[in-house]
Amino acid sequence: MDDLIAGYRRFRAGTWRSERSRFEELSRLGQKPRALVIACSDSRTDPQMVFNAAPGELFVIRNVANLVPPYGPDDQPHGVSSAIEFAVRALRVREIVVMGHAMCGGIQALLNGAPAEVSDFVDQWVRIADPARARAIKEPPERQQQACEHEAVRLSLANLMTFPWIKSAVDGGRLRLHGCYFGIQSGILEHLDEDGIFRPIPE
Ligand SMILES: [Zn+2]
Repeated sequence: MDDLIAGYRRFRAGTWRSERSRFEELSRLGQKPRALVIACSDSRTDPQMVFNAAPGELFVIRNVANLVPPYGPDDQPHGVSSAIEFAVRALRVREIVVMGHAMCGGIQALLNGAPAEVSDFVDQWVRIADPARARAIKEPPERQQQACEHEAVRLSLANLMTFPWIKSAVDGGRLRLHGCYFGIQSGILEHLDEDGIFRPIPE
């Protein structure tokens, strides 16, 4: 906890001071983020950092392997879908970005099975991306991890379109969906282009 408190003190001395008027405006007017980012919980792939975003700019959902489940309202609690619903229907974000990343432990669990110590929830969760796994294992073994990371982004984008109010907003031109992929080692962000290929974003 000492490290966290030291970080908090740096925040109060630095970011809080420089962004104070922005925080005050955000508390007065409420948040109006333009984008929803769905990223992995991995500590190395923070969307706020990658997009160098200011407070109030990004509405962020993070989970194991940046997965979106298909639309399926029922009597169970749905953390990811409820945050998506709030961002799209209440905040009316204009963009949704699904950001995958290299060396994803969640994707590794999907490919090889979750380690025993995380079998209560992780195993079941990553199975959302079974169709991505099925496509990735057709690749040579050394390419499967990255192929599956890419396929999981494509699958999450496809699952977003199963939400009826997302589909109608996309069809009506009020909302755009994007796929991205962050290379932890290179620091390079790739964008999923219209032709279905991930390409580095020019600097
Ligand atoms: Zn991950």
